[in-house]
Parts: sequence; structure tokens; C-alpha cells
Amino acid sequence: MSGMRVPTVIALSVAATIGVHAQAGVSETPDSLVTAAKRAAGVDYSGTFLRICVAPDNLAPAAARGGGPARPVVPDRATWYAKPYKVFDNLYFVGTRIHSAWALTTSEGIVIIDTLFHYAIEPEIVEGLNALGLDPRSIKYVLISHAHGDHDQGAALLQSRYGAKIVMGAADWESTLQRPSTAVGGVPKRDVVVGPGGLKLTLGDTTVDIIATPGHTPGTLSYVFPVKDGGRRLMAVYAGGTAFNFPRRAENFAVYRDSQRKMTEVAEAAGATVLMTNHTEFDRAYDRVRLAQLPRVAGEKHPYETDTKTVLRYFEMSADCAEAQRLSMK
Ligand SMILES: [Zn+2]
Repeated sequence: MSGMRVPTVIALSVAATIGVHAQAGVSETPDSLVTAAKRAAGVDYSGTFLRICVAPDNLAPAAARGGGPARPVVPDRATWYAKPYKVFDNLYFVGTRIHSAWALTTSEGIVIIDTLFHYAIEPEIVEGLNALGLDPRSIKYVLISHAHGDHDQGAALLQSRYGAKIVMGAADWESTLQRPSTAVGGVPKRDVVVGPGGLKLTLGDTTVDIIATPGHTPGTLSYVFPVKDGGRRLMAVYAGGTAFNFPRRAENFAVYRDSQRKMTEVAEAAGATVLMTNHTEFDRAYDRVRLAQLPRVAGEKHPYETDTKTVLRYFEMSADCAEAQRLSMK
């Protein structure tokens, strides 16, 4: 980024902080935080706001929660199958209508980000790459945002069939390696372990900045990486874990909150203007990837491009929602 743009980004951020955290300080209450989060969410992140501020999963009895590791039943394909799409010059959507998976192409091969439930790996990722003219044998790394079945059940197949290296947070490797060998999708062997300090992963001409963001799971990872839109370079931030379906304890919300605050700083430093998540309900991925197929008039932004202030609002919202839950437990 040029020196000229830095003051602009900082000014926007300060304005956003003042606007969103008008009641910051000793007077913060669960209600004031939810109000601030609602304002930060706007219409951009209403799906995430509703999920974690209005109806947190872990308010419900454990048996009613989703997101568990095993889901052997295959739902009707018509409810989840999505075609693959080229979305940026170097980023391809190979997810379902519900869960995102991406192929980030580099000069030395492909990085896959998240791997869906077991039933979707062949039709979406393997056949999707082939349909897009990409070779699954070129997959070098598979980044797992966190070890829940909707994102990691395809990892073992990509590792055993194509020799891809699996990248996961240290704590999520531990839970993964405790699974029985009969686990749905299989169990990947330990490859790249990301600790609390994160990791910069470089493949050819592309570097993915991997940030440890514990909260949704202890080993949740988030990412910053460049995407290109007609040759224009934009920085994308990928939030790796969202729902509050962890045990409902104050310290867990504090860990989650601190990770979101860290991502606010990371996104600002990167000058990120694209915010992505791993469930389509949280970033409207399925809408955006289809909108990205349509022609644009001169000067019209890519459907995923916003501005840094809007990206920061995502993490301000998620931090406030976590803090609201934490304070409500005292
Ligand atoms: Zn999850």
C-alpha cells in the first residue's frame, strides 16, 4: 500500500470506532453491545448478527445444536449443490449453497480453503476444479479454518489422493487426531501445524497470512490473502469460525472476543476491502459468486469488494456480540 492511503484508512477506522462504540467504556451492557453490534452489522452482515447476537447457538440445549463432527446422512443434492464459479482472477468458488470452499491459484499450484462435508468433496471440489479447467493434482495445500465436519471432512481425501499438505491450528489437530479411523471422511495425517503466533504460508507468487483466532474452536484459523479483480490487487480477509456453538462459558466468549479484536487490527493493517467467511449465510457468498458472473459497467465494484471500514465493521460486530454474551453471564 502506498503511504498516501494509510491516513485515509486510519481516519475511516477512527470514525467507525467512534460511531460503533459510542457507549464504549464502563457503561457497556449486553443491550448496549447488541445495539452497537446491530449498527456495525448493518445490512452487510445481518446473517452473522442474527446468528451470534440475536440467537446464539449455545443458548439452546446441546442436543439441538448443529455443527457436530459427524453427519453421515447425505441430504438431497438439490438442497446444497452449487456449480463452481471463477470469482476473482485467482480465486474460484468450489463450495455448496451452504458452505464455502475456495481454490486460490498461484504460480506453483492451488491452495484449497476449507473442504465441506464428505458428500460434497467429489462433486464440488474434485469435479468443480476439473470443470473450471484446474487440475486437482495441482493442490499443494489445504487450509482448514477449523475442525468441524462441514469444513474438514474432505481433507483426508485431498491428502491421500493428491498429496496435498493439510494446514490446521494446533488444538484442532489434536481433536482431529483423536477421531476414530472410521470417522466420516476419514482422518488426515498431521502435516502443517499452526500455533498461536500464526504462519505466513507462501506458494509461488502468493502468500497467505494465517492468523490464529481461537474462539469458535480452540484451533480456529483466519486468513489474509490477495485476490485480483481484472488485475487489480485487493486484500481479502477470511473469518474462519463464527457461530457460538462452543461451551457457554465466560472465558470462551473472552477468547472469541479477543480474536475478533485482533482481526480488526489485522484487517486494518492489510487494508482489506473484501470480507469472506466459510458459511454462505454469513457473507452471502452464494449470491456474490453468482453476481460476479455478470457484466459490470465501467467503475462498478466487484460484488465482494467493499472498503476497509466495512470489513472492520464485521469484526467490531463479532467482538461486541461475544462481549454481550460474556457480560450477560455475570
Ligand atoms: Zn464450526
